[in-house]
Amino acid sequence: MDKADLLLTHALIVTQDKGRAIIPDGAIAIWQGRIAALGATGEIASRFKADETLDMTGKIVFPGLVNTHDHLFQVATKGLGEDMPVEKWVAAVTSPTALSISPEEIYIFVLTGCLELIHSGVTTVVDMNYKGMQFKSHDENIRAMTDSGLRGRYTTTITDYGKEYNVLPQMVDPIEWYIEEYTRLFEKYPPTDRLAVWFSIGAPWTITREGQMAIKKVSDETNTPIVMHINENYADNETIIRRYGKPVIPFYDEIGFLSPKLLAIHCVEMSDTDIELFVKHDVKVSHNPVSNMYLGSGIAPVMKMHKAGLTISLGVDGAGSNNSQDMLETLKCAALLQKVGAKDASAVDAQTVLDWATLGGAKALGLEKEIGSLEAGKRADLFAIALNTPKVVPVHDPVASLIYSCGQQNVVLTVADGKVLMKDSVIQHIDEAGIIAQCQEAALALATRCGSNSKVKRGWWGNVTEKYS
Ligand SMILES: [Zn+2]
Repeated sequence: MDKADLLLTHALIVTQDKGRAIIPDGAIAIWQGRIAALGATGEIASRFKADETLDMTGKIVFPGLVNTHDHLFQVATKGLGEDMPVEKWVAAVTSPTALSISPEEIYIFVLTGCLELIHSGVTTVVDMNYKGMQFKSHDENIRAMTDSGLRGRYTTTITDYGKEYNVLPQMVDPIEWYIEEYTRLFEKYPPTDRLAVWFSIGAPWTITREGQMAIKKVSDETNTPIVMHINENYADNETIIRRYGKPVIPFYDEIGFLSPKLLAIHCVEMSDTDIELFVKHDVKVSHNPVSNMYLGSGIAPVMKMHKAGLTISLGVDGAGSNNSQDMLETLKCAALLQKVGAKDASAVDAQTVLDWATLGGAKALGLEKEIGSLEAGKRADLFAIALNTPKVVPVHDPVASLIYSCGQQNVVLTVADGKVLMKDSVIQHIDEAGIIAQCQEAALALATRCGSNSKVKRGWWGNVTEKYS
């Protein structure tokens, strides 16, 4: 018999393969982080001898969800930035937090965010830290992502402009400083299957044309993608027209910034010309519906971009503009927002939304050969839901149930790279209760230091775990 590390049996498997096959009473054999085989339980179980076998009777297995946009450290700011437009919110909440946060605090907040992602079926995350106030901030952010067991892409924002738009002076540095910082990061963290360092830029109004093209040059030389918020709201076009005389995307086309290695976040304000230019350069899109609603940014023309042939993926965005890190909520909101925007219930279907969160996410990261679907040879990134609460039953259409009826309480198993991160809804490799306690305490301390309007006081939480000091 062939050897397997892990064998899942008797599951209903939503494969997301080319034919979108669904296997009833299916099994998946996992060996050394990859799917060795999948198919009918009778066939697979008789072929493989596994170290661990999980009976998945009554459970539905999906490919792991790919969260293509996040600011994990912002877990600290849940509930502090209510009811503010994005510029005010950046100046009042996220920037002061980013300046004051310690590397040790970053570790706790990033890990807390990752734990919620695991609870909501995510196995891959692209994180956008702000500028690291010290190099250790990168180290601790990356250490938390690595400890979480998620597949990750780490970025830290490059800002060489923006004081006139209230970007705090401490966030701004010459482009050479950032290139040096990234060179150190690339040396310390060479890319692996699990983690790689990518470039990121906060917004069109936080970078100069020269700085942007300097990053593009290094990106081309090192084959490193760039993640960037683009056209999140009206401010991007307004500021770039004022500075350079053209809307953002036509200007980027003119200077040669657009490329297949650009992952554009938000893309709410998109003209037909903008979409055409993105198609021309195969720019990838990350849609963040909860954040767009939270900040009142607008409704991204996602179906229009999808129909034009663009690769669409989904992101939760940082907890600062979401207040949670729930990917399942993002799936549901992605569907509902397109429907309400079009005033048409048939504007998007559940299958398309699942495609964005799996295959689209994989393609947006250039990982379509490795993740995004459950097929032999691909990485074993998956999660399972159980019919264990009234919220999800009855199930008639597994995909519709996932998009519209599931919550984190229904996610019982999460596996990334063949490793079981959560089983029976219990995190396997981290003291989750301890991290939650440390997160609450650290967030209160940080809010107090930043003069934020926390409505709770230190001490009400009770005994703080002794691990945090
Ligand atoms: Zn963002």
